[in-house]
Amino acid sequence: MITANRAPAQPRRWQQLWREAVTDPLELLGLLDLTDRAGELLPASDTGFPLRVPRGFVARMRRGDARDPLLLQVLPLAAELGEVPGFTRDAVGDLAARAAHGVLHKYRGRALLLATGSCAVHCRYCFRRHFPYAAETAAANGWRDAVTHLAADRSIDEVILSGGDPLSLATHKLAELGEAIGAIAHLKRLRLHTRLPVVLPERVDAEFLDWFGALPQQRVVVIHANHPREIDAAVGAACRALQAAGATVLNQAVLLHGINDDADVLAELSERLFAAGVLPYYLHQLDRVAGAAHFEVDDARALALVDALRDRLPGYLVPRLVREIAGAPSKRPV
Ligand SMILES: *Cc1c(COP(=O)(O)O)cnc(C)c1O
Ligand code: SF4
Repeated sequence: MITANRAPAQPRRWQQLWREAVTDPLELLGLLDLTDRAGELLPASDTGFPLRVPRGFVARMRRGDARDPLLLQVLPLAAELGEVPGFTRDAVGDLAARAAHGVLHKYRGRALLLATGSCAVHCRYCFRRHFPYAAETAAANGWRDAVTHLAADRSIDEVILSGGDPLSLATHKLAELGEAIGAIAHLKRLRLHTRLPVVLPERVDAEFLDWFGALPQQRVVVIHANHPREIDAAVGAACRALQAAGATVLNQAVLLHGINDDADVLAELSERLFAAGVLPYYLHQLDRVAGAAHFEVDDARALALVDALRDRLPGYLVPRLVREIAGAPSKRPV
């Protein structure tokens, strides 16, 4: 075949936007007219979990507002350095739950596959910020161990692609994995845990939807938005497109001090999600991971907030308040 005259492969728009993400905290402060806050940043020498945020997400932040709830989710602050008793590096027992290379099998019937360690955004409260991803993802081992584990255990009927963010992978990589999973007859459902439709909705492109919509399994997508202002028209359209491709779309949020620990904010989040056809699923109590203590909301206040939601929203718009406990057979109600 003569290929010399073919147009070069089009760089995919989402991949270009990914590469253009803001990674310099000073640039981020500059974009938001907040350079006077530079003294509050995590020292640049701390490179363990660097800033990363797509420019489209930055565009949803308010200029001049150092307390902006979207900004606070991504800005590396010196407050992360304080050591707080009870906040550890492996807060949810992931290392112990490793069932095969890149597979976490904690709960009956569901296995979670660490498809990749990459995320388009780095959330400061993330419970996996210290997880040894590069070595532990299923991709690093060509899916082999992971798929062998899933195939050998007939009690597993749902596979959850997680990470990191599974939609960080190019669609052809997802298709490769999907094909291996598709060969396992006892897997009825495929679930994606992804923040990309929220932080970089361009990821939900035609190529992805063509692949996703043609999968034989029932499909569930659990997105992750914490504040109503994360959901703009483009995010809503991405959620609708996922539904049109046959997915049930749910949201999980993390309850975060100073970001969404407010009944008005949580109610508006549920309303905006539902306007995009998305149901609230979980509201997580923070995993006690080192560096995230300043985001914690105590249980009494968390319960009061959910009670307030119950008083003002239909039941299907009230998320389940849960906490992950290492070794427990499911996420536990608070
Ligand atoms: C959260 C989680 C799941 C999914 O739990 P659901 O309650 O089904 O949403 C599955 N496996 C692991 C390891 C998890 O952490
Ligand atoms: S997108 Fe999810 S996995 Fe990635 S840093 Fe944020 S919370 Fe963690």
